[in-house]
Amino acid sequence: MKELIAEAAEVIHQSKMTLALTGAGISVESGIPDFRSAGGLWSKYDPEEYATIGAFREKPEKVWQMLRDMDEIVSNAKPNKAHIGLGELESMGLLQCIITQNVDNLHQAGGARNVIEYHGNSSTLSCLQCGRKYSAKDKQGEFPPRCECNAILKPDVVFFGEAIPGDALNRSFMLASTAQALMVVGTSAVVSPANTIPGIAKRNGAKIIEINKEETHLTHSITDIFIQGGAGEIISALVAEVKRRLGSCGNG
Ligand code: NAD
Ligand code: ZN
Repeated sequence: MKELIAEAAEVIHQSKMTLALTGAGISVESGIPDFRSAGGLWSKYDPEEYATIGAFREKPEKVWQMLRDMDEIVSNAKPNKAHIGLGELESMGLLQCIITQNVDNLHQAGGARNVIEYHGNSSTLSCLQCGRKYSAKDKQGEFPPRCECNAILKPDVVFFGEAIPGDALNRSFMLASTAQALMVVGTSAVVSPANTIPGIAKRNGAKIIEINKEETHLTHSITDIFIQGGAGEIISALVAEVKRRLGSCGNG
């Protein structure tokens, strides 16, 4: 593990353009369950059944039961060592952008500023009937929240079957095409099109560092350095190792 961390730190230290692609796994240590691991929210609500745009259009009240439970977990969650470590790398000028599939706002809470929210954000709600937009704060306590036109509002997160926001899609593609290093953290990389980002980066010559609890289909195909384990501990160790290198550069 120590050697892999040193190897990854060297790649990040040398790279002039580093990206991170994160998924639900990075927020597990903040108490937000991911899709794959057993138990929790997703054994109560099957994402295939609750997280599709078709389900929302047909039965928005039912989908709001899941959204309300998810909201409660997310609103009490605090950034963990992995979010904070990535924020530190960014402020050291060693991480140019985080592309996250998460909608929990924990990267920003952990100090990161350049975050692309590939699957949207739950802080605003939209009406699928008339297009009006609301701040989720203004609708807090309303269940399910309704538009002035009486339709049930939808949070601006990307449901299965919905398009990725154009700006997030284009910027991610452009960044992945120029990255020299990509950290893939806490994602099973099965949700498309987010899972095309590592391949785009690799084809353009980026080194792929994967940090995951379990192996993924990337591990033995395009990953260069696989560090297996919890994101909090690994990213803290990685940041410490990068700092050590910066320190020794400064002194020598
Ligand atoms: P996923 O559940 O498919 O995969 C999670 C990955 O993280 C797995 O590879 C798992 O081994 C790994 N993992 C679990 N705990 C970890 C830890 N402590 N440290 C490092 N790795 C860990 O998640 P996904 O690939 O992001 O795809 C699911 C979709 O649902 C995405 O769109 C995701 O963002 C969304 N979702 C978001 C949240 C959130 O906003 N926090 C929560 C659940 C699902
Ligand atoms: Zn409306």
